[in-house]
Amino acid sequence: MPDLTIIGGKIASAHGLRRADITVAGGKIVSLAKLSRKQIARASKTVDARGCLVIPGAVDPHVHFQLDIAPGLRTADDFATGSRAALAGGITTVIDYTAPTGQQSPLDALAARRKQADGAIHVDYGLHNVLINWKPQWANQMDSLALQGAPSVKLFTTYRDRGWQANDVMLYQVMEACRQAGVTVCLHAENDSLIEMFAGRISPTNLGAQSLALSRPPICEIEAVARAITLAEATGVHLHLVHLSCAESARLLSNAHQRGLPISGETCPQFLALDQNKLAGPQGHLWACCPPLRDRKNRLGLQKALQQNVFQALATDHCAFSHEQKDRWAGDYRHIPCGLPGVETARSLTYTLGPDQKKLSLKQWIWLHSEGPARLFGIYPQKGCLQPGADADIVLWDQNARWRVKASRLASACDWSPYQNMQLSGRARQVLLRGQEVFKDGKLGDDLPMGKYLQRRRQKPSQLALNAFF
Ligand SMILES: [Zn+2]
Repeated sequence: MPDLTIIGGKIASAHGLRRADITVAGGKIVSLAKLSRKQIARASKTVDARGCLVIPGAVDPHVHFQLDIAPGLRTADDFATGSRAALAGGITTVIDYTAPTGQQSPLDALAARRKQADGAIHVDYGLHNVLINWKPQWANQMDSLALQGAPSVKLFTTYRDRGWQANDVMLYQVMEACRQAGVTVCLHAENDSLIEMFAGRISPTNLGAQSLALSRPPICEIEAVARAITLAEATGVHLHLVHLSCAESARLLSNAHQRGLPISGETCPQFLALDQNKLAGPQGHLWACCPPLRDRKNRLGLQKALQQNVFQALATDHCAFSHEQKDRWAGDYRHIPCGLPGVETARSLTYTLGPDQKKLSLKQWIWLHSEGPARLFGIYPQKGCLQPGADADIVLWDQNARWRVKASRLASACDWSPYQNMQLSGRARQVLLRGQEVFKDGKLGDDLPMGKYLQRRRQKPSQLALNAFF
């Protein structure tokens, strides 16, 4: 007997629109077909989706919940509040990151991070393995990470001052080891020495938030992206470029695709919706993130690239700090906790900038939030699609909703929003996680289920579906 039927909705997937009812049993989708009244009556519960698009729950491949970035400085959203905010925004799966301390090995860091998230998080989740202080003998651990359901690592080419930087040798060695083990290399690409040089040119009397953008201009990202693509090509690894912020980075990514390289990339709503002039206001430091917001030309260039199917995923890089935490910067851009909240507003923002303005098709928008990231990171078709056998992570999307962002009404524990007062189109009316109703009409359920750790599978670089529309 089915637990649930969703009737009367228009089902939108990355492959098209159709009218059908959905039957759910045991947390999974059983069928998509027009049901008779008798069949509907057999289910213990019926959800009326009339007037809504029925779409897959989003997979956000880049979030930072409950992250201690310095002693006494933990992100405003922990696993519980961050995942509640995600659900309210129609995101049912996230991939967070391990947070190795000191010389902790990747396997130990993975175990430690799972301990923090299990029993606290309300969306299904996976983890990317952050690699810092790389030791060549850890190459053996790449296969074990994959066996434990986490076949992706994350490196930074910047943050040398924090001890997180991977130099070219480390980057190459990690890529070689990951190629061997079938593990994806995610990269935050910014050239650290260039950042140091640009920072050195900033006068000590000019340390306001705008100088964050001056200290890491587009060339820092562009050079590091180009170098990473060259190294990835030499090693044959699947490289995933996170949070790309420049139009030229998108062009390099597109060029890599034309050469058939297994290289994917994501961009984020903040780079599509906001300009660096946000940094200029009296509260400009609130908008500090890394890489920084860019100018209008880059913003429009990224929108265009999205339209042209250059990106494989939209990710939020959700990393929330409260007003009070941001205020600790004391007027010096080098001390601002960098990061923006994003999971709760992401889908409405991209819907507003995309399908609502006819800049993206519904198919593209859905692909970028669901099937694209699910395929890249080894959880498709369990996640990222609506088809028999998939988890019943389902969003009833109200295309006609018009709403204004008010931080005080959001579920996130962060007390401000980068999109405050912005008028958005489209909103999740109802959200199901594995068939359980977790969000309805603006309210989260009282007794939210716990999210599960996802056993992600490794992907053969040659079989990566870099784009549904190729
Ligand atoms: Zn990040």
